[in-house]
Amino acid sequence: MKYEGLKKFCISEGIEIRLDEAMSRHTSLKIGGPADIAIFPDEAQAAEIVRILLHTGIPYIVVGNGTNVLVKDSGLEGVVIFTKKMNNIKKKDSGDRIQEAERVNIIAQAGCSLLKTLNLCVKNGLSGMEGLADIPGSIGGAIVSNAGSFGYEIGTVVETVNLLVDGRIKTLLGSAIGFGYRRSKIPPDSIILSAVISLKKNDPFDVRSRINKFADKKKSCQPLSLHSAGCVFKNPEGMPAGKIIEETGCKGLKAGGIEVSNLHANFFINDGGGTADAFLRLMGIVCKRVEERTGIILEPEIEIIGRN
Ligand SMILES: Cc1cc2nc3c(=O)[nH]c(=O)nc-3n(C[C@H](O)[C@H](O)[C@H](O)COP(=O)(O)OP(=O)(O)OC[C@H]3O[C@@H](n4cnc5c(N)ncnc54)[C@H](O)[C@@H]3O)c2cc1C
Repeated sequence: MKYEGLKKFCISEGIEIRLDEAMSRHTSLKIGGPADIAIFPDEAQAAEIVRILLHTGIPYIVVGNGTNVLVKDSGLEGVVIFTKKMNNIKKKDSGDRIQEAERVNIIAQAGCSLLKTLNLCVKNGLSGMEGLADIPGSIGGAIVSNAGSFGYEIGTVVETVNLLVDGRIKTLLGSAIGFGYRRSKIPPDSIILSAVISLKKNDPFDVRSRINKFADKKKSCQPLSLHSAGCVFKNPEGMPAGKIIEETGCKGLKAGGIEVSNLHANFFINDGGGTADAFLRLMGIVCKRVEERTGIILEPEIEIIGRN
């Protein structure tokens, strides 16, 4: 009953809506119970939806490519707003030809993948994001956690972010977003709609070769083709979490269908039969062993979401 008004609105506006949608279909881990309601709006529709949700008090969460989340087996209460249909990206004309000889801005919607963004960078010879090669997330998800690799972080190239806060569209300057190691100060409950990203002009061939170099490096040390959510834990000061987990003998540890990867110990792999419960159990086992043997308390990098 509580979702009736929302359902009617979505149907009347032609917005895709699904009931009891298995989140395992939308996460790279292939894990996650059902969301009461899944909605797939475009940018303008997202603002309308959020206003309705705020008005009716229905809880909601936004999901991009689902590559940094562990959704509990009990699923999600309320609405999941997916950004998949907000996936446009283009060069932004500044009107200043002299400036454009050096720097170019692109505008990317939140659901645009990093892969698509990097393809545009190669096509137009734009440098600044090459280290994000092979990170399977969306622009929105990457900004929230300040995704990065090989010394690159998305926060360093974000000029502005357009987001919905309390149902209103706001623009934040990149410098006001408080980017840090795998974090930002994007207000909780807000939804990133799009971002302007400022990149340096560079030879397309050089951009492509750097991307290829980073992608090859990643492939050689991370199990990219298996079901994971990337690094499970943040790196503590001075030492990669993967190395600590490996040195405490956790590689190959298993719980249910989840295993600590033998290639990269900070990746936990779902063999296809894993559950969120098993994943959380394995996180607990690894944390306990690491703390007992080193005194280090590991902090999750992944977002754990779902009904209590
Ligand atoms: C194989 C693999 C390799 C990876 N390698 C790396 C790596 O090298 N470096 C790295 O940093 N990460 C890595 N990751 C993790 C992940 O890909 C990144 O964190 C990515 O940026 C997450 O984007 P997403 O769209 O999948 O976010 P999601 O998983 O969909 O969401 C993550 C969080 O962001 C929020 N969110 C998503 N979109 C929005 C939005 N539009 N507005 C507001 N909030 C939003 C969600 O609510 C959630 O809290 C890897 C993951 C995998 C599976």
